[in-house]
Amino acid sequence: MSRINVLDDHLTNMIAAGEVVERPMGVVKELVENSIDANAGKIEIRIVNGGMESIEVVDDGCGMDKVDATMAFQRHATSKIRETQDLWSIQTMGFRGEALPSIASVSKVRMTTCDGSDSTLVRIEYGQIKEVRPIAANPGTDILVEGLFYRTPARLKHLKSGNVETNMILDLVQKIALAHPEIAFELYSDDKLRMQTNGSGSLQEAIMAIYGLEVARKSLPISFSDYDFRVEGYLISPVITRSNRQYINVSMNGRVIRSLPLQKAIIDGYREFMMPDRFPIVVLNINADYQLVDVNVHPSKWEIRISKEKALYSLLSENISRTLREQTRPSDMVVEHVSPAETVEYSQPQQPQAELRFEEQKMTYTTEETLQRFNYLGQHHGKYILAYDEENIYIIDQHAAMERCMYEEIQQQISAKAVDCQPLLIPLIIEITPAQMNQLERINEMLECINLKLEPFSLTSVAVRELPTFVEGDEEAFIRELIEQITNDREMSVLDIRKEKIASMACHASVKFNSYLTPEESRRLLARLSRCSQPFNCPHGRPTMLAISDRQLEKEFKRV
Ligand code: ADP
Ligand code: MG
Repeated sequence: MSRINVLDDHLTNMIAAGEVVERPMGVVKELVENSIDANAGKIEIRIVNGGMESIEVVDDGCGMDKVDATMAFQRHATSKIRETQDLWSIQTMGFRGEALPSIASVSKVRMTTCDGSDSTLVRIEYGQIKEVRPIAANPGTDILVEGLFYRTPARLKHLKSGNVETNMILDLVQKIALAHPEIAFELYSDDKLRMQTNGSGSLQEAIMAIYGLEVARKSLPISFSDYDFRVEGYLISPVITRSNRQYINVSMNGRVIRSLPLQKAIIDGYREFMMPDRFPIVVLNINADYQLVDVNVHPSKWEIRISKEKALYSLLSENISRTLREQTRPSDMVVEHVSPAETVEYSQPQQPQAELRFEEQKMTYTTEETLQRFNYLGQHHGKYILAYDEENIYIIDQHAAMERCMYEEIQQQISAKAVDCQPLLIPLIIEITPAQMNQLERINEMLECINLKLEPFSLTSVAVRELPTFVEGDEEAFIRELIEQITNDREMSVLDIRKEKIASMACHASVKFNSYLTPEESRRLLARLSRCSQPFNCPHGRPTMLAISDRQLEKEFKRV
């Protein structure tokens, strides 16, 4: 007996709904994407009880005529693609013609739409058309979705509390709004306005509306490209951090995407400026040839496949770290209190004067004792050095500062291929594990850049005959730590990252912390720090110093 049936439309729609609209957020995503595709200038979203009760999306887009208004709910009905060719360069958010029929199969939908001449109402309940008639309506489309999943209890059970669903929707709408500053968004949850952007087209204004004034003030515009990709957006100064990746916003050709590799590239760009467990706030909109991007790989289109992803990865991390290096000024390292009266200042460009002065000073720097940037004032508790320059007073963490200096010095030696070495009178014999022994070749390959070579000595030990001169004190612990780090870190492969990491490990392992520095030693440390290209963070992201600006002093002493 044959057992295979062809499923009816309603069932296939419900199955598709399982993938496309897993939860209320998925419905909001599909509806808002439709509004974007309809060229809306304003999109209003209203949810009740996290969207479980109802979701309404109202737009002022192109609307539909009376034929399309019902066609839209048929499976695989779309106005966005026509032939196979189109699938290779998709320029709209939607293209499968699945969302509306899927949503309508698991909820009650009421749509009014007007294309400027026809105005139509369509009501569908759990896949069945209940009503289609002309109605008076404003141009655009208004879709109300109620009772989502009431007839699909298994799905309903998986939903979280209204609050959790609301936050997911809020996060989604924020991300979409940041990818589309040219559209005005409003999100109401249980009739309360939760988010609003003005649609002026200014990304910085959208950032302010969503993340607040302080974040917008600390945002650096960024724009770079290579042959295939153009990236634009804002990096928020690393002085403001978050505990998760949720604030790393990436969109590709207007589509909000989740891409772990791209997130990682961004985090890599920030790495020097941030503790490993903290994450930046970033808004980047990437534009690429539509043909380089395959959006048809994920049911709800969160993930995409990017050709030349590796190139994009380096483009992002390199440009981000360079921008941060160039632009981070001491005043960016201090989160200042902002009084409400200052609200207009945020859109002004960086103060070029301060930056120029800093540059000049670096360029004309000649000898240690004369034109150095940080000038010695004193010491505190044997741990901190007090210093000043033209702009600020600094409280410098000795240990972090030493690490920074070592790091840059080692990095310089590595890039100049000029790591100083010293032969050992007696070779150093170090016990290692069989697993490490197995990886000896890889370890040596990594360590080559600091002229360190481990020779097999016995089945479980290696010999070292020469050491870089920057290693002082416990050489064995130093080499051991390098071996462990390399064997534990499987990702260390790209040449630059490798060099940076080796330098960071080397300095970490080699800095011997002398708890008390003489004034002479402190001065020498300040001279070294003055020569650093990025003196404000240690290589592991911790700040090396606090800066107190004149302006802050004036404020503290109530002179302004
Ligand atoms: P897709 O977006 O993949 O085409 P959907 O099921 O989401 O599929 O929508 C089907 C069609 O309905 C769209 O192609 C579009 O023509 C029309 N449509 C849906 N929402 C809107 C809207 N808000 N404004 C105008 N047209 C819309
Ligand atoms: Mg769609």
